[in-house]
Amino acid sequence: MDKYEVIIIGSGPAGLTAALYTARGGLKTLVLGGYTYGGQLMNTTVIENFPGFVDGIDGPVLMDNMLKQVQRFGALVEFVDATAIEIEGDDYVVRTHDKQYTTSAVIIATGATPKRLNVPGEAELYGRGVSTCATCDGALYKDKVVAVVGGGDSAMEEATYLTHHASKVYLIHRRDKFRASKIMADRVANDPKIEIVWNTEVKEIVGKENKLSHAVLFNNQENRTYDQPLDGFFLAIGHEPVTAFLGGTIKLTDKGYVDSADGIHTSRPGIFVCGDVQDQVYRQAITAAGMGCRAALETIKYLEMKEVV
Ligand code: NAP
Repeated sequence: MDKYEVIIIGSGPAGLTAALYTARGGLKTLVLGGYTYGGQLMNTTVIENFPGFVDGIDGPVLMDNMLKQVQRFGALVEFVDATAIEIEGDDYVVRTHDKQYTTSAVIIATGATPKRLNVPGEAELYGRGVSTCATCDGALYKDKVVAVVGGGDSAMEEATYLTHHASKVYLIHRRDKFRASKIMADRVANDPKIEIVWNTEVKEIVGKENKLSHAVLFNNQENRTYDQPLDGFFLAIGHEPVTAFLGGTIKLTDKGYVDSADGIHTSRPGIFVCGDVQDQVYRQAITAAGMGCRAALETIKYLEMKEVV
């Protein structure tokens, strides 16, 4: 069985920053980067708030640069999912679908995935009109009518992006106020292609012959239910932490995030955490990267104390 000093699970800004520090710090580092590497930034367009890029940088380009940087310092990156972590004496065994690796320390950086509404029709029409990624699927809706659901920065970003393709974008929000940052909400409010649909909940997504036809909407102020014809429907209602594979290895919060008093240490020595799988508050690429750096430095300290390195 291959033995590493640290295994990092996840390849978003948190995991790859952690890997940069552990690999550059001389630790034998394996990154289990997932079948789709790069995390949530792979589904975004230009990132304007990652310092150092005056004109912004495309999310996938930033992640590609981070990947090359960790590989340059000798980290091995495997593009597979971790399926379990087991305790073996003082070490840990990390399993994938067909392999297992021993390690002295683990950094969990698995991030979060897009939440679903769980309304009738959503699962059946997923990939047939229902999507969680405007940058991936937006081009399919040239001159079509689409809707985005949500009131956070993701919903603003998705709606704005979709105006480059669609003829009309409905932005459906369940309340009368966005939680998005003012700059992004203002951009949406001033876009003539976007119509904001306040106080409205999605009750059902309906298709004919496996193709989206309309959404059943409920205006909770007017107590009115109606059909909204649509060609595309984009979910942007937040994310859920990717922690199911952890089983009971470490303590989770009641919402399923990794429990940690300081955002880095978990309930088990030698297992550290960073990024959106722990952080429910800031959830920015730059804060995830900062957490990745801290997790790596704590890992190095832990391994020095154990005299592994
Ligand atoms: P978010 O801030 O948690 O917003 C989720 C939105 O979806 C909220 O408006 C929420 O409504 C709505 N929602 C949640 N569950 C719903 C349901 N079941 N039905 C209908 N609506 C539902 O998530 P996010 O927009 O993905 O943003 C996450 C983090 O990433 C934030 O910190 C954000 O600033 C950051 N982000 C930054 C950028 C950027 O700077 N470029 C881009 C994207 C995201 P309520 O408001 O009523 O709760």
